[in-house]
Amino acid sequence: MKTSIHGINIECYRGDIASQHDMTAIVNAANAQLRIGGGVAGAIHRAAGYGLEKECRPMAPINPGEAVISGGHNLPNKYVIHCLGPVYGKDKPEDKLLANCYRNALLLAEENNIDSIAFPAISTGAFGYPIKEATDVAVKTIKEVVPKLKNIKTIRFVLFSQEDYDIWSNALS
Ligand code: ADP
Repeated sequence: MKTSIHGINIECYRGDIASQHDMTAIVNAANAQLRIGGGVAGAIHRAAGYGLEKECRPMAPINPGEAVISGGHNLPNKYVIHCLGPVYGKDKPEDKLLANCYRNALLLAEENNIDSIAFPAISTGAFGYPIKEATDVAVKTIKEVVPKLKNIKTIRFVLFSQEDYDIWSNALS
């Protein structure tokens, strides 16, 4: 599914965040220690190789809502932007912290002259954020931030399941 807001391409794909060959940057739904972990972080670190964890170690720990940038190592992407999403029901206010992830990741990408960036559904796996609520936060934040962007031309959302894909593509369209 593809649309555009303020001249920026907004795409929604079903697939694996670690296989986005045409994106300059991908976003990691990281853990505070920026270690391999499960879910998105596991897929990204496995594909990137040990060099990613090594590069990330001095930047850890990060706080909920924060974003840091590293190289892509063995990934097909030049950069990985690591965001720590809020744990639903624990890190509050969770909507603001989740919005900070999307905003900070986009602003960090913009600063690094990144033209295309792919996001997973941050916090909606192990961190328990309900997918529909997380979608609303993401879409609202993207709409707020896109008017400020000059370098980013494409923002892609990569959803793992068909159900999550349907929710995101409905919200975006
Ligand atoms: P968090 O700890 O922030 O909740 P997770 O990695 O556990 O992050 O999950 C975030 C979302 O990403 C979940 O909806 C999960 O289904 C999805 N997901 C898991 N693996 C992948 C992958 N390889 N590519 C894209 N999305 C994934």
